[in-house]
Amino acid sequence: MPAAQSALVIGGGIAGPVAATALLMAGIDATVYEARPASAANGIGGSLALEPNGLAALRIVGADDAVRAAALPITRSAMSIGNKPGRDVPTPQGLPPRQLIDRGALHRVLDDRTQRAGVRIHHDKKLIRVDEHPDGITAHFADGSSASADLLIGADGVHSIVRRLIDPQAPDARYLGLLGFEGLADDGVDTRALEPGAMTFAFGRRAYYLYWKRPDGRIGWGANLPSPQYLSLKEARDVPADDWLQTLRTAYAGDVPGARLAAETTSDSLQAVGALHIMPPVPHWHRGRMVLVGDAVHAPSNSTGQGASLAMESAIELARCLRDLPDVPTAFTAYERLRRPRVEKIAARGARIGRAKAPGPVAQRMMRLLIPLMLKSMKLDKTMSAEQHYTIDWDTPVSTELSNIT
Ligand SMILES: Cc1cc2nc3c(=O)[nH]c(=O)nc-3n(C[C@H](O)[C@H](O)[C@H](O)COP(=O)(O)OP(=O)(O)OC[C@H]3O[C@@H](n4cnc5c(N)ncnc54)[C@H](O)[C@@H]3O)c2cc1C
Repeated sequence: MPAAQSALVIGGGIAGPVAATALLMAGIDATVYEARPASAANGIGGSLALEPNGLAALRIVGADDAVRAAALPITRSAMSIGNKPGRDVPTPQGLPPRQLIDRGALHRVLDDRTQRAGVRIHHDKKLIRVDEHPDGITAHFADGSSASADLLIGADGVHSIVRRLIDPQAPDARYLGLLGFEGLADDGVDTRALEPGAMTFAFGRRAYYLYWKRPDGRIGWGANLPSPQYLSLKEARDVPADDWLQTLRTAYAGDVPGARLAAETTSDSLQAVGALHIMPPVPHWHRGRMVLVGDAVHAPSNSTGQGASLAMESAIELARCLRDLPDVPTAFTAYERLRRPRVEKIAARGARIGRAKAPGPVAQRMMRLLIPLMLKSMKLDKTMSAEQHYTIDWDTPVSTELSNIT
C-alpha cells in the first residue's frame, strides 16, 4: 500500500509528467496542473541534450524509445578554446550517446506518454496558494478553481512558488548573467569536417557557444550571451530578432566559427530560449504534504548537461519512495536522502565550469592552460562516467537501498 492515494503535480514541464506517470505506476492517482495554455507547448523552442542517465530514467516510465525516435544522437563531442581546433572530449565507455531533442518535441512525447498512462493534464492552471488540512491539501489556481489530494508535488521550475510555500525563506534561483539563444545557419563552418551528430563546445573570446551538424546538413548553434541585465523569456522575445542578431554578431566577432555562424543566421531562424539560472542548495525539500522535484529544488548550471536528466531521476525516485515507505514524512525524508548528495555534487561541478563561460581576459588565459589539462586527465572521464552510468532500480524496494547506505 503506497504512502498516499492521490497527488496534485504542479508543473507540466519535464519533471511533472514523469513524476505523475511514475506515481501512477506506484499506485497513486496523480493529476498535472500546468500554468501555460495547451497551445503554448508548440511555442517552446530550442534544443535540449539528454544524458544516458536521463534516458535510463525515461525507460522506467516507458518514454525512452519515443524520445530517441525524435532526437539526434550526439556521437562525438569536442571542446575548443579561442580559435584553436576542437579537441575530442572523451565519452564514458559502455554507454549509448546523449540525445539532442527539440524541447517542444520532448514535451509532446512526455505529455503523450503521461496521458496514455491515464494521467489528466490540466492547462491554464497557475497555482497561487494552498490550504493544508489534516486529511489533505487544496491547491488554488489563478482562474479561481481548486483541487484537493493527499499530496502536492512542486515540479514548477526554477521560479517555483511551491518552494516558497514550503519555506518562505527558501533561496531564489540565481541568474548566471547569461541569456540563451538558438540559431540555425546554412553554412558557417567547414561542414566536411563535421559529421551529423558531432557537437563542439566552444569558448569564444567574449562568450561561450556550442554548435552541431544536423542531418539536413545545416548547423544548429546555441549562444550563451553575457548580459548583466536579466530578461525573462517573454522580455527577450519582445526584442526584435534582428537586434539580437546584431548583438550576437558583435559578441562573436573574431571567433571561428562563431562569427560565421552569427553572420549566416537570419532573424527568422534565431530564437531566445531563456535566461540561465542555477538553484543554490535548498534547505527544505519538503514540508507537511508538499515536496519539490526538478529545477524547483536542484537546477544545476546548464554546463553540466544534467538539468533535465536529474529532474527525471528525482521524479522517479520520489514515486518509488512513496510506493515503498509506510507514510509520507518517511517517504519524503528518504527521497531527499537518496537524491541530495548526487544533485549537489553535480551542481558543484557545474559551478566550476560555469565560471569559464563569460571569461575576462585573465580567466581566458587560465582556461587555455586548464581546459586541455582537464581533458587529458582521467578525472573528467571518471566523473562523467559516474554521473552518466547512474540508474534507478525501480523494482528494488527503497528500504533495501536505504539500509545499504546507512
Ligand atoms: C537555455 C537553456 C538550455 C538548457 N539546456 C539543457 C540541456 O541541454 N540539457 C538539460 O538537461 N537541461 C538543460 N536546461 C535545463 C532544463 O531545461 C531544466 O533542467 C528542465 O527543464 C527542468 O525541468 P522541470 O520540469 O523541473 O522544470 P521546467 O521544465 O521549467 O517546467 C516547470 C513547469 O512548471 C510550470 N509552472 C511554473 N509555475 C507554475 C505555477 N505556479 N502553476 C502551475 N505551473 C507552473 C511552467 O510553466 C513549466 O511548464 C536548459 C535550460 C535553459 C534555460
